[in-house]
Amino acid sequence: MEDKPIDKQDILKELEELHSLDHDYADGRILGSMCTEAHPFAKEVYCKFLDTNLGDPGLFKGTKQIENEVVKSIGELLSLDNAYGNIVTGGTEANLMAIRAARNHARKYKGITDGEIIMPASAHFSFKKAADMLNLKIVEAELDNNYKIDVESVKNSITDKTVAIVAIAGTTELGLIDPIEEISKIALEHNIYFHVDAAFGGFSIPFLKEIGYDLPVFDFSLEGVCSITVDPHKMGLAPIPAGGIIFRREEYLEVMAVDSPYLTVKTQSTIVGTRLGASSAATYAIMKYFGKEGYSKLANDLMENTKFFAQSLKELGYELVCEPELNIVAFNHPNMQTNELAEKLEELGWEVSVAKCPIPSIRVVLMNHVKRNHLEELLNDLKDIF
Ligand SMILES: *Cc1c(COP(=O)(O)O)cnc(C)c1O
Repeated sequence: MEDKPIDKQDILKELEELHSLDHDYADGRILGSMCTEAHPFAKEVYCKFLDTNLGDPGLFKGTKQIENEVVKSIGELLSLDNAYGNIVTGGTEANLMAIRAARNHARKYKGITDGEIIMPASAHFSFKKAADMLNLKIVEAELDNNYKIDVESVKNSITDKTVAIVAIAGTTELGLIDPIEEISKIALEHNIYFHVDAAFGGFSIPFLKEIGYDLPVFDFSLEGVCSITVDPHKMGLAPIPAGGIIFRREEYLEVMAVDSPYLTVKTQSTIVGTRLGASSAATYAIMKYFGKEGYSKLANDLMENTKFFAQSLKELGYELVCEPELNIVAFNHPNMQTNELAEKLEELGWEVSVAKCPIPSIRVVLMNHVKRNHLEELLNDLKDIF
């Protein structure tokens, strides 16, 4: 740090130079990101709430009410009338809270001290962080032929140390939805906490169902589901950071509560202490502004692009890893290594993402910034490469 203050203009110039090294979503070249440019209205609202702190809700009663409203609305979207939970920084923190709730609940009510969590290989790496921090062992359930969690394998993995089962509604790599209904039954039968990670799918599956897409049930209408992660900063078009953790019952927050002596509330259940109200306010605003109609249209547009892209790839001779269920397409060249194809695309200016599970493949997430004209350009390049 310099001794003397520097002129604002000079600082801004330096920052802008660095910022110009960043990719811009608007170029349509970012193919593997699950985030996208936030809606301008959400950004405007976000800036108005920069100084609010939900870590001390007694001082920010209005903003706390906004967070409660957002949690309630997301809960209703997921078929839950009385939702508990928080708007946090993203899917990672939401998953961490869910697993912490499950662990603490099992410790308190079942006396489990060295717990295990069952999840598929397709689970997001945030669960590895959660397991590490919470001192839990991950037991990996197998995938079935469709790359979804294998129900029998889950059953067989249950022990008297199991504190949670995790399944995914919209996997990070392929966008697939696990058989949540069947897992829910198993979880109920064995009285085990069941968490659904819908970080990616949460802001599209409900809207796609609304307009007639035949997608499986994944939400709180299934009795065994205890918590769901949903990321407003993905298809919700809220600014980063915005994740949602929704719990069916208040007791899951209670088992995480620690005393918070100097604050306006007596206890705190979130992982983060001082935490921004801006995410809640921006998410509140964009959800009202879009309504179900707006999100259904967005989700449908993304699916139309997905279908177009998948079909065109097949016509060119590329091979899909699976038929897309949500707006992710993973593919390979029939006789070129994935990494070689990725390099060729990168040379042509595309920011590609390589998936690992279940096989290496090029993975394109059809987010809002990837428009039809970008896809046509990409397909032209893929045609040349072929
Ligand atoms: C994106 C994603 C996460 C992680 O969310 P962050 O917001 O990046 O922390 C977790 N799970 C799934 C299924 C995801 O798609």
